[in-house]
Amino acid sequence: MKTPSVLHLDIDAFFAAVEEALDPTLRGRPLIVGGLAHERGVVCTASYAARRYGVHSGMALRTAARKCPHAVFRRGRYHLYSRISGQFFACLRRFSPRVEDVSVDEAYIDLGGSRYLSPSVYELAARVQAEAERETGLKISAGLGHTRLGAKLACEAAKPGGLFWLHDEAEFIAGLTLDKIPGVGPQTHFVLQGLGVRRGRELKAKYPTLWRRVFAGQYAGGMERGLPEPVSRSFSRETTFPNDIREEGLLHSHLAYLLDRLAVQLLRDGLYAGRVEVKARFSDFSTFTRRAALPFPTFSYFHLWQAALPLLRSLLARRDLPLRLVGAKVDGLQARRDILPFFSLRDERMTAAIAGVKERFGFSSLRNARSMLLEELYPVEREGMVLKTASLTK
Ligand SMILES: [Mg+2]
Repeated sequence: MKTPSVLHLDIDAFFAAVEEALDPTLRGRPLIVGGLAHERGVVCTASYAARRYGVHSGMALRTAARKCPHAVFRRGRYHLYSRISGQFFACLRRFSPRVEDVSVDEAYIDLGGSRYLSPSVYELAARVQAEAERETGLKISAGLGHTRLGAKLACEAAKPGGLFWLHDEAEFIAGLTLDKIPGVGPQTHFVLQGLGVRRGRELKAKYPTLWRRVFAGQYAGGMERGLPEPVSRSFSRETTFPNDIREEGLLHSHLAYLLDRLAVQLLRDGLYAGRVEVKARFSDFSTFTRRAALPFPTFSYFHLWQAALPLLRSLLARRDLPLRLVGAKVDGLQARRDILPFFSLRDERMTAAIAGVKERFGFSSLRNARSMLLEELYPVEREGMVLKTASLTK
């Protein structure tokens, strides 16, 4: 059997562990980092001693104080955590150039190309773990797998502080109930429950397309591969306005138009996008971008829109100035290959049907209502003038 080469590392109770390292009197006591007991706000990290009382991250501080009244509460010292996080990642990058950060204390590292460092990948994994622990002074859990999913599940099982690997990853996952499979969100879980699917095995047997899709979403590249190798290109389009625009509805229309274009482009090239980025240039030429991962790889206009609109809104909140340009970009592109339309992809089928009409009768023959405002505003100037797209990078 092939040797696993994807290592997942996760610092145990990160913020709490840093506080404990700096103040040994805290060791073993329930410790909650995020704020003081009476404050508003939520728990950022709870030490394992506090978790035993049912405290978990994301819980309101006051609830945590009720569950564990004798816990020590600390406000976070984030500059400190971020410095240690930097040490953690620097250490990992000495072992492999392929390191993917998931959050401040979590990473995937592909050891496939680092085998010259050690004859055994298990030994190498243990060495990476030990060195990262030595350099950060913190306990780190590690999991080795053929894919990121397998590595993550192994790491979960290894907590706290261990190193596990899965011998037969596919078999292990097939036996899990769906709520235990990372990548199956509450929505998907709900739908699948309705279909009577409870375990990975049933999902794989009954709905192989969705099975692949679930993994393609969270662990782009599918079950059979490790870290994804996205198609290295992106599509972007932007519009510079003839007059600066402040009116939000109109900016939405422009964004809708750009996304509509990008969706058709993705569809035509047989690609899924993994991320969407929105760019805003204000009247003083200051330029900002915001990006977000899509919930799963898609070419659907509707999903692009859902992800991009909050990005535009947060960009607009940055300055109290009108915009002179709005842009949109999709990247993290993957070939669609063998993934077939499925029930959850109704939006994609709709995007495809719309694109078919556009193909035949011209792009503007069918417009989404959001961008129709543009026609109203620029009745004479058609695309190619006002809506000229500035760049298309491949
Ligand atoms: Mg952690």
